[in-house]
Amino acid sequence: MASKEENKSLIIFDFDETIVDQDSEYGQAFMTLSKEEAQKIVEMDKIDYYDTFNYFFKRMKDIGLTLKDINSNLEKLELSPNMKELFDYLRKNKSKYEMIILSGDIDYSINHVLKYHGFFDLFDDFILNKAIIQDEKSERLLFIPRDQFPHSCDLCISSQCKGLELKKYLDKNKDKNYSKIIFICDGGNDFCPSKKLLKKGDIVFPRVDHGLCRKLFEQKLINELECDVYPWKSGNEIIDKLEKL
Ligand SMILES: [Mg+2]
Ligand SMILES: [Zn+2]
Repeated sequence: MASKEENKSLIIFDFDETIVDQDSEYGQAFMTLSKEEAQKIVEMDKIDYYDTFNYFFKRMKDIGLTLKDINSNLEKLELSPNMKELFDYLRKNKSKYEMIILSGDIDYSINHVLKYHGFFDLFDDFILNKAIIQDEKSERLLFIPRDQFPHSCDLCISSQCKGLELKKYLDKNKDKNYSKIIFICDGGNDFCPSKKLLKKGDIVFPRVDHGLCRKLFEQKLINELECDVYPWKSGNEIIDKLEKL
């Protein structure tokens, strides 16, 4: 059996506000609806994820948007600073890493953005909410079936417990014996997997001025983590750190 040092590290990426600079669904809402209605969607999402996004997709259909329009809006979303450089670096060093995305966002948006920027093939696996295209013929309406990630975790928002999903992934891949887990993320919902699954020697990269940094440094929850914590503002800082590992 290979020694732990020879094994790959697992790099886990969040998507919204990590790979792309903003939340991709809110970003589309602000591109397509009035400011007031887009803001209403952000507020609705605090109450129920599935209802919110199905309402949003219905509104996009009502105003006549097709999947083509949705695609072109997704292509307008900007990547976070130096994310492209980070992916170029990871492509050059891909033999050292297994890469997955762990996000509560939908597969349709994430797949499209990654394919558009040419990064889709870098990823080995995806843990995402699934959207269904309900009307292929008119190329309209996405629908998200409810409760794809049921859980009872009180650290997490109702639509997904990233800790539980990561645990299932690690259990499934137990024999890979990853040398290290590296989690690149930003949000408050990234706290649970960081706390429950990342151990000494693993690394979480929380984005500066985002929810997870606020939890760790303002609410002072950093002591609840066993792993190392390196806040980031740009992909270049993550490259620097990875080079030194
Ligand atoms: Mg995020
Ligand atoms: Zn959780």
